[in-house]
Amino acid sequence: MSKPTLGNPQNTIEILQKYNFTFQKKFGQNFLIDTHVLDKIIRAAEITKEDMVLEIGPGIGTMTQYLAEAAGKVVAVEIDKNLIPILSDTLSAYENVTIINEDVLKLDIQKLANEENQGRPIKVVANLPYYITTPIIMGLFENHVPVESITVMVQKEVADRMQTGPGNKDYGALSLAVQYYAEPYIVANVPPNCFMPRPKVGSAVIRLTCHEQPPVEVKDERLMFDIIRASFNQRRKTLVNGLNNSDKLSFSKEEITEAIESLGKGSSVRGEALTLEEFAELSNYLWKYSHND
Ligand code: SAM
Repeated sequence: MSKPTLGNPQNTIEILQKYNFTFQKKFGQNFLIDTHVLDKIIRAAEITKEDMVLEIGPGIGTMTQYLAEAAGKVVAVEIDKNLIPILSDTLSAYENVTIINEDVLKLDIQKLANEENQGRPIKVVANLPYYITTPIIMGLFENHVPVESITVMVQKEVADRMQTGPGNKDYGALSLAVQYYAEPYIVANVPPNCFMPRPKVGSAVIRLTCHEQPPVEVKDERLMFDIIRASFNQRRKTLVNGLNNSDKLSFSKEEITEAIESLGKGSSVRGEALTLEEFAELSNYLWKYSHND
């Protein structure tokens, strides 16, 4: 195995010029040019030679080189066909890397994990394209892909939303969804000058360690998430009105009020005050009304 050659501005510029590469804004291309940040991501992901890593958006292969050093196997999915010849070049020294030229949102990752890792849990590591952060992460969770952990660079504001709890302005449907499936931990904040070109927003590395079992018992996950979304759709409204106004839910105002009171909360409470445990209790209580025949 050889040492990573990328991860600094000079070598990145050299490769980009060699292939006359032009950045595509629509693909959220901001390449990492800081070896300290790369080391931090690899350490936080706790990769061993036993692991298969899925990398989303390898770019020119900077982080892929680091991942290939640490992991048993790396599968990297890149949408931009102009990057494929570059990746063949920068990763030529690594035999444990497979590149797939595909839109990650269209890929059957469950099937990939089965084929490449015999269904054992994989680790996902990426400097994500920010425009599709939520669909990528929720896709992994909701499709029940066997994943042990997800260590990713995201927009700082999104990392804050994933990690925060009730009473915070960033708390919302994303916080609850992430915390239902995983334990979030912000590893580091990363400034724009660690990327080329520089993004307009701050970034953060977050590690999501997936739960083996969800931390709360829920009779109907879909119902709980419909309730959560309805509660935050109209942040300024009370929880009673938020749930009553939703076209996805068909509970009466009396049923909703009774369910909220069963939590020991008053009728003026807002969704943003409820914990994941309380949303689970609320949805289990309301579930009775959709199954009372
Ligand atoms: N990993 C590289 C690095 O850290 O330098 C590049 C990260 S860059 C923020 C995001 C990468 O994701 C780009 O290479 C982009 O082309 C790729 N990408 C964007 N949308 C994608 C999609 N739907 N499926 C797969 N890759 C995608």
